Amino acid sequence: MGKGNRSFMGFDLKVVLMVSVALNVVLISRVLYKEDDESEIGGGVCLESGEAQVSRRRTGFDGDSSGTDVLDGGAVIDLDHGNPTMYEEYWKQMGDKTTVVIPGWQFISYFSDIKNVCWFLEPEFAKQAIRLHSLVGNAVTQDRYIVVGTGSSQLYQAVLYALTPTDSPGPMSVVSAAPFYSSYPLMTDYLKSGLHRWAGDAYNFSTDEPYIELVTSPNNPDGSIRQAVVNGDKGILVHDLAYYWPQYTPISHQADEDVMLFTISKSTGHAGTRIGWALVKDPEIAKKMTKFIEINTIGVSKDSQLRAARILQAVSDDYDSSGNAKKNEQFFEYSYNVMVKRWNELRAAVDKSQIFSLPKFPPGTCTFSGQTFEPQPAFAWVKCEQETVDDCESFFRGHNILTRGGKHFGVSPKYVRISMLDSNNKFKIFTERLSSMKF
Ligand code: PMP
Repeated sequence: MGKGNRSFMGFDLKVVLMVSVALNVVLISRVLYKEDDESEIGGGVCLESGEAQVSRRRTGFDGDSSGTDVLDGGAVIDLDHGNPTMYEEYWKQMGDKTTVVIPGWQFISYFSDIKNVCWFLEPEFAKQAIRLHSLVGNAVTQDRYIVVGTGSSQLYQAVLYALTPTDSPGPMSVVSAAPFYSSYPLMTDYLKSGLHRWAGDAYNFSTDEPYIELVTSPNNPDGSIRQAVVNGDKGILVHDLAYYWPQYTPISHQADEDVMLFTISKSTGHAGTRIGWALVKDPEIAKKMTKFIEINTIGVSKDSQLRAARILQAVSDDYDSSGNAKKNEQFFEYSYNVMVKRWNELRAAVDKSQIFSLPKFPPGTCTFSGQTFEPQPAFAWVKCEQETVDDCESFFRGHNILTRGGKHFGVSPKYVRISMLDSNNKFKIFTERLSSMKF
């Protein structure tokens, strides 16, 4: 290295410095400006962690999500994604009950249970999923095949593959009643497979051709309880029951559909474990779904299945010891109470601001808890009522609140979807800001 000509690994230091500054500028601007990304997670992962950094810089945020006074009023609040961090507090209290230790030599085979149609399904996970369904009473599990997936997102693709005949002349139409979950169109079409194609709002669909209808109940984004809307005899139904759990809605009956999708992301809040499961009546469909996952990822992480099994077990265990004094609040009681509190706060803020509206839900009695209550969905489906506001998402962005606008769900931009599952901190700032919002 010569004097006056400093270098780093052969590069001029000035150049290295300039590249580093440019990279930082790009990164910071990505943090501050959200990209228009329609996927459920999309560019928001960067934004989400970045948002915490912005808040930290401004306020000395110490990472304690239970605090309420650490973010300042002007910080960007990202409630675009349904990231269920509000359950973190509960799982912290559970301590080692849900800790899983896996020695390096264990669970190294691809195979879990070669006699099962779904040969990569861990028997312990299957056992705990069945146990939880029979405790909650939300789905029939007798005479069903369980297919495990890397989140129910993978099962969605597996079921489309399984239900589409390979010899059909054209792609099969896939529909769902609007407002529909914003990832369905993307997940249906992104590979342009020729097997299936997104055909939009089920209310506008009528054809003699075979089709697949997704019935999401309770629905993402608006929380409504749903049934199939296309009345064709060539339709195949897939029920996405991600939110059919007693913290979100009264359990009215044991769902008994041909294909039912569930996920640990929304039931217990372990979205990062990436485990979903399908309850399937027809063995041929279960086999084809298994084949899809075999071709796609040669199975599903055993480590994740074991972790998921332990979490489901912890939930069920707290209910089994009936009669004994319990050390912990039971999971569905805890999560139900958090949702009651949040929906009360949200409704109070909406009443105060007088410029938004929320859906109204009829109350129902829950066969699991015995309580009568109105659904309290994982998302708030908010309408900007003022005539001069056409784009509700932009209106919220103007107040540093990131939401997802109606067009992503196949409806008017006067609506936005707002996550109800984020940390206490964010939720508190959100409702405070909402109640004082004016046009
Ligand atoms: N279906 C619905 C209706 C959802 O809201 C979600 C998560 N946002 C999923 C499926 C996907 O869940 P997972 O994390 O298991 O892939």
